[in-house]
Amino acid sequence: MEPSLDELKQAVADYKRKLHARGHIVALAGNVSTRIPDTNHVLVTPSQVPIDALGAADVVTISVDGDFVDGNRPPSSEARVHAAIYRARPDVGAVIHGHSPYATALAVLGRPIEPIMDEFLPYVGGTVEVAPFGMSGSAELIEGTVEALGPRAAVLLRHHGQVAVGKNLDKAFQVAELVEWAARVTWLATVAGRPERLPPEAIETSSGVYAYVKDM
Ligand SMILES: [Zn+2]
Repeated sequence: MEPSLDELKQAVADYKRKLHARGHIVALAGNVSTRIPDTNHVLVTPSQVPIDALGAADVVTISVDGDFVDGNRPPSSEARVHAAIYRARPDVGAVIHGHSPYATALAVLGRPIEPIMDEFLPYVGGTVEVAPFGMSGSAELIEGTVEALGPRAAVLLRHHGQVAVGKNLDKAFQVAELVEWAARVTWLATVAGRPERLPPEAIETSSGVYAYVKDM
């Protein structure tokens, strides 16, 4: 059975809380969204609501064009990035944006997360690229993020953080966690030596698996 609108709103608020509990965000940062099935509407976390006070009633409805539709609060300032991803990627049902420390450190360095671990690839689909810097809400940021994301499940935002996408909130959250884990391994491996990329055949095989996992 499909979740009700209220259940979906609660899930959006719960995943933002989870992002905080798992150390991906502090203070008011980060945002979470999901499509409302069979509509061109999206539920997104609001701007400026403390994590302990955040509930389903605070979650805002926008259109995939990024326009406000319904809600008691203004949407997150990064909601237009979410909307642009939904427009570009019909396969995406949820978007999670946070500032997890290792992923953000690589984003600050402008360093993509290369495929160095085989288990990472089927879930993310390849190198996590770094989108060019843009001011919050700017066309440069929005277009650059969509382009650097491409068909994959994650992208780093230069000087900012990470964006993870998936068919639903569960999948997008798994990707956000995997990206942070891969960023941490990349960091450790780089400190100790020079990480090697996976052999091309492993990358090719995993890309095929990604196409399958993405739709699961
Ligand atoms: Zn942010």
